[in-house]
Amino acid sequence: MSSARIIDGKAVAADLRAELAKKVADLKSQHGIQPGLAVVLVGEDPASKVYVRNKGKQTVEVGMHSVEHKLDENTSEADLLALVQQLNNDPAINGILVQLPLPKHINSELILNTIDPDKDVDGFHPTNVGRLAIGERSLVPCTPTGSIILAKSVQPDLTGLDAVVIGRSNIVGKPVAQLLLRENCTVTIAHSRTRNIQSVVKRADLIIAAVGIPEFVRGDWIKPGAIVIDVGINRIEKPDGKTRLVGDVNFDEASIVAGSITPVPGGVGPMTIACLLKNTLEATLMQKGLPSA
Ligand code: NAD
Repeated sequence: MSSARIIDGKAVAADLRAELAKKVADLKSQHGIQPGLAVVLVGEDPASKVYVRNKGKQTVEVGMHSVEHKLDENTSEADLLALVQQLNNDPAINGILVQLPLPKHINSELILNTIDPDKDVDGFHPTNVGRLAIGERSLVPCTPTGSIILAKSVQPDLTGLDAVVIGRSNIVGKPVAQLLLRENCTVTIAHSRTRNIQSVVKRADLIIAAVGIPEFVRGDWIKPGAIVIDVGINRIEKPDGKTRLVGDVNFDEASIVAGSITPVPGGVGPMTIACLLKNTLEATLMQKGLPSA
């Protein structure tokens, strides 16, 4: 039986989008500015196509200008670079997102590093990584931002908490650890070489799991009352041969012990696009020399 409060990522994301829609409307009426987001998709990856469609739809819903560039699987690296440069120079475009993964013949790092850091709404450009590390205003990766917003939805002030991040990837683990530092947490990053990981996790008031291993974190690793943010999205096969999504935390076990926990699906996942739109607004404000909304 679950005793933890279930953190509803869909509801928090919907609130964030409503807040953004209002800020976008204010920006239009006060300054005549409409943020614009360009999403570039190369090839036919079915999951990427769904993401891109949802991004475009939600961009329009919050009142922003949405542009989608769908390129053939065989597009050359030079042509993709030229498109990124064109978007860098387009004043109607404030945010650029190149959907990953890219086809194998294209150097993803080269493409991502060509995006103007001020339009890099994924927050992956080394300039933004550096700005985040030294605490400057910057564009921050979306999933980490969403994870922090969810933690703060149950505990608005995270100051002094022992936070354990499991995973040290550039897209989740490292940036989420930086954001936790910014929230005044005492931060530990656990990873594949961490010794006695259970006892490290057991210290945590706040756990952020970004491992990519289904149900990796067990109930008895969790300190009673802890906040558990599960970033993992893993598809596993059920005994009947059908599949289902699970996180990096064993939800049934953890929800008995934790104080609050995000479900999978319906936790961190829905926050990612909302945070992309938040970044697009922030990128626009930065480019226009306006303060954060
Ligand atoms: P990754 O594979 O790049 O990194 C995984 C990290 O886990 C590594 O740093 C590794 O050190 C650590 N790790 C691996 N095995 C471990 C072990 N046995 N013990 C401790 N640590 C271990 O993955 P990622 O891109 O950071 O993604 C992590 C998870 O989050 C995946 O399930 C992914 O699907 C999911 N994800 C979700 C969203 C979202 O929108 N919700 C976005 C990005 C990633």
